[in-house]
Amino acid sequence: MELLEDLLAELNRRVDVALYINVPDVELLARITGRRSCPSCGAVYHVATQPPRTEGVCDACGAALVQREDDGEKVVRERLKVYRKHTAPLLKLYESRGILREADGAVKPDEVFKRLREAMGSVSK
Ligand SMILES: [Zn+2]
Repeated sequence: MELLEDLLAELNRRVDVALYINVPDVELLARITGRRSCPSCGAVYHVATQPPRTEGVCDACGAALVQREDDGEKVVRERLKVYRKHTAPLLKLYESRGILREADGAVKPDEVFKRLREAMGSVSK
């Protein structure tokens, strides 16, 4: 995290606010592992929230949908572990500086956006 601070100092910039979109692991897992993509045209689906008309088949081009390797449960759990170890400590740092704003990310995207705007609104310049 000092690396980021040094880089910003060099650029004569600083972190004014840190936004933390908080999503429970179980929700993250469901979102990521449910993702399916089309290897042919790149369309993205979700088995629960945005399924194709025919299971496993791309609406746009008819190709068979695939789950990207890094969307698999094992990989996602590993990514979460790495996140907790390396990135989560930043939350404590920014919190101690009073610049951390948290928004509940376990809601619909529109609602997350609204909450982030509210969180940003509380930033004093
Ligand atoms: Zn396609």
